[in-house]
Order: sequence, then structure tokens, then C-alpha cells
Amino acid sequence: MSDFRGLIVAVSGPSGVGKGTVLARVEELLEQANPGSVGHSISVTTRAPRGQEKDGVEYYFRTTEQFEQMIKDGKIVEYDKYVDNYYGTPSDPLTEMVGKGQDVLFDITIEGSLALNRKFDDDTVTIFILPPSMEVLENRLRGRGTETEEKIRKRMEQAKAEIRRAGEFEYIVTNDDLERAARDILAIITAEKLKASKNIHTAKELE
Ligand code: 5GP
Repeated sequence: MSDFRGLIVAVSGPSGVGKGTVLARVEELLEQANPGSVGHSISVTTRAPRGQEKDGVEYYFRTTEQFEQMIKDGKIVEYDKYVDNYYGTPSDPLTEMVGKGQDVLFDITIEGSLALNRKFDDDTVTIFILPPSMEVLENRLRGRGTETEEKIRKRMEQAKAEIRRAGEFEYIVTNDDLERAARDILAIITAEKLKASKNIHTAKELE
């Protein structure tokens, strides 16, 4: 058990920018340095499971009625709609993980990141991930090979709208190279933990 509270690392960015891959690498590096230090928040969603996805592993899959009931009961700390489905973060597990010193990494919508930052202020850092260029982003979206021209055009429009909001975040990281982006995020996490406001009690003990 750590003396320090964990950090909520809320990461947003356009679809295709590589958030998932970068966060997986960040988690690997954090776990290497300090095993058991990363906690996992399992979101609740109203979308249907894909492929091998299982309830309680990738997501808690719920109906819209169940989701709305959870909101009413105060069990969801933030939620947003993404492509016609609800996605939300359960409150209790997050509070518990942060309380016992685990860092929790989120790949989450813009509204989700900003809501976590409002609710958990001192415990949260918000990071926006940019593609190195719009061409690279478009190529990555095309590389998936599953999308129609119309869908790619829509995703690029949405990406531009999202990138216009990057300034609402505390940090901006460009994913031109996976390893570098992951290390940039590690540096942000380290800096956040070294903030005087979080360490003043250590200084006081030395007085
Ligand atoms: P997918 O359907 O591909 O699993 O997720 C779509 C998007 O929903 C993700 O890229 C992520 O940004 C967002 N998302 C997943 N869980 C949450 C959540 O708990 N809250 C919010 N606000 N967004 C989420």
C-alpha cells in the first residue's frame, strides 16, 4: 500500500491516433517500474459485445434502461455518448483504486476526460494525443481496411472538430513514435506526482 494517492490519467484524441497502443505501452513501463501500480477501470456501455468480448472484462455490457438506472443511483462518475451508445465510468472502483495508490489510465472521450478532471481535480491529469499530421491520421484510418470512403470522411471531420478542443487539456502529446509518446506520458505522470501540493507533507515532516 502506497502513502500516496494514485493518479487518474485521462487520455483523449481522435479515432485512429493510437491511444490504445500508447496507453498499453505506458502501462507496461509503469508496471515494470512498480508491479501492481496500475489499476483497471472497467467501463459500462450500452453497445453490444464485439467478437470475444466478455461482460466484466472489456466492459460491463448493460441495456440503456440499466445504464440510466445506474446514473440515477449515482454509480457512474462520468458518462458520454459515442456513436449512439452510452459509455460510463463506475464510481466506487475508481475511488478505491486511487485511494490505495494505483494509477488508472483512461482512453476516454473528450467530455469524459474533462468530467473526471472536474470531479477528481487534484487526482487527475488530462492529456490530448495528436497525430503527427492529418495525412498520417487518414492513412491509419484507411489502414484498418474496414471503413467506406464516406465513413473515413466523417471520421476525419470528427477528428478535426476534436483537435480544435486540444487546448482544453493540460498536456498535448504527439504520437509520431510509439515509444516517444509513451515516454512523454510517463514524464507527465512523474511531474504530476512531484507537484509541491502533493509532497508538502513530506517537507513538513523534515521541519
Ligand atoms: P469502443 O466502442 O471502441 O470500445 O469505444 C469507443 C470509445 O468510447 C473509446 O475510444 C473511448 O474513447 C470511449 N470510452 C470508453 N469507455 C468510456 C467511458 O467510461 N467514458 C467515456 N466518456 N468514454 C469512454
